[in-house]
Amino acid sequence: MTQTAGAKIIDGRHHARQLREALRIKAAGLLAKFGAPPKLTVILVGDDAPSRLYVSNKSKACRDVGIASVVIELPASTGLEALLAVIEEQNRDPSVHGILVQLPLPAHLPVHAVLERISVEKDVDGFHLYNVGSLALGTAVFPPCTPYGVQKLLEAEGIPIAGQNVVVVGASNIVGKPTAMMLMQKDATVCICHAKTRDLAQFTILADILVVAAGKPNLIVPQMVKTGAVVIDVGINRLPNGKVVGDVDFEGVRQKASYITPVPGGVGPMTVTMLLANTITAAQRMWGISETSTGT
Ligand code: NAP
Repeated sequence: MTQTAGAKIIDGRHHARQLREALRIKAAGLLAKFGAPPKLTVILVGDDAPSRLYVSNKSKACRDVGIASVVIELPASTGLEALLAVIEEQNRDPSVHGILVQLPLPAHLPVHAVLERISVEKDVDGFHLYNVGSLALGTAVFPPCTPYGVQKLLEAEGIPIAGQNVVVVGASNIVGKPTAMMLMQKDATVCICHAKTRDLAQFTILADILVVAAGKPNLIVPQMVKTGAVVIDVGINRLPNGKVVGDVDFEGVRQKASYITPVPGGVGPMTVTMLLANTITAAQRMWGISETSTGT
């Protein structure tokens, strides 16, 4: 990567809009051919306010591209058996192509047992053990939405991945680990850091592409970033004053990086868009069309 006077700000909303335009055409084509739209069921357990907002954004995004969506709301007291019964019902319903259980779940519900009950053919979040395994093998049908969005942003900007040093800060099952896996499969050399990494800066400074998903505002400051690096900020943090920021000191790091994603308006819009893409892929597969929704 070359030295720049200031980073190009990657406009996630713009890239998401472009992808959604293509998805809208595909959804309309499926409706015309099969007489029904692709359909997503979202299951929301409990009353977590941010989860409610995320679910409402997902429903709105579905409407935007012509995907039917249903939200099943269950009380926080719902037991495991009752939740699994709801999932089974959605698994059996042939009009439903994608099923998503909004996380986090109330503490008494075991996340893995719940996610593993979703049919692998409808697992549009890509969190079922089978889909996690196929991601490791490089044959994922439903890549997890946030890492998929990160990959698509890099591709949309024409940023090469093969041969690049990628450092992923954050090792969660839903963001950090799958992002590392996906970029490794694109032939990057990948290093994963986490909360127990000693001297984080000695790793981040080596990154040609730095992906940060720790949930810690201002974790990444300019002296931790190589001049000309591509910086993808996945973090979403609400400050006490109500402002939403990422994990990166945006104003400082943008002076040094070649590309940087803003928060909000970077990775976030892509995450929801990749959920739409995966739902269309699920519908296509159920209707016997093998092409993936995003052409990858
Ligand atoms: P998470 O499950 O809490 O995982 C955070 C990861 O960051 C963990 O691996 C943790 O290490 C690591 N970490 C924490 N503090 C660190 C530090 N000081 N130095 C290095 N690593 C550190 O969070 P998540 O679900 O992956 O989400 C991460 C962030 O991305 C959050 O802000 C979340 O809101 C945001 N997010 C955004 C989107 C989007 O669409 N833009 C989607 C999902 C999540 P340990 O493993 O050692 O604990």
